[in-house]
Amino acid sequence: MKREINCPECLPNTSKYRGLCFVPVSGTIVDPYPGEKMKVVKGKAKFAMFCDSCAKKIEENQECFAISIWSEYSSIPYRPWESTYIREKENGSKTEPGGDEASS
Ligand SMILES: [Zn+2]
Repeated sequence: MKREINCPECLPNTSKYRGLCFVPVSGTIVDPYPGEKMKVVKGKAKFAMFCDSCAKKIEENQECFAISIWSEYSSIPYRPWESTYIREKENGSKTEPGGDEASS
């Protein structure tokens, strides 16, 4: 599995380079090429890092994208890794059990 961090400017280019005519929606798995899978996760950098595409610095808390590319037929499947690098946006749709719900 290939893992990449992209800045927002590079995601469209990476998607195009991979053979997609659209930019994948965060969290979905797409097929840029037969047998090839790609997943994009949008989030905020947990620490300063560099874009794997343009090498520009991504500051802590800056919006960026974690891209995974793997082969469908590989013996090594996709494994979540994004949370090591990025904090996924809390957009209300994802509520953790026992999270912020105060006991009444
Ligand atoms: Zn970039």
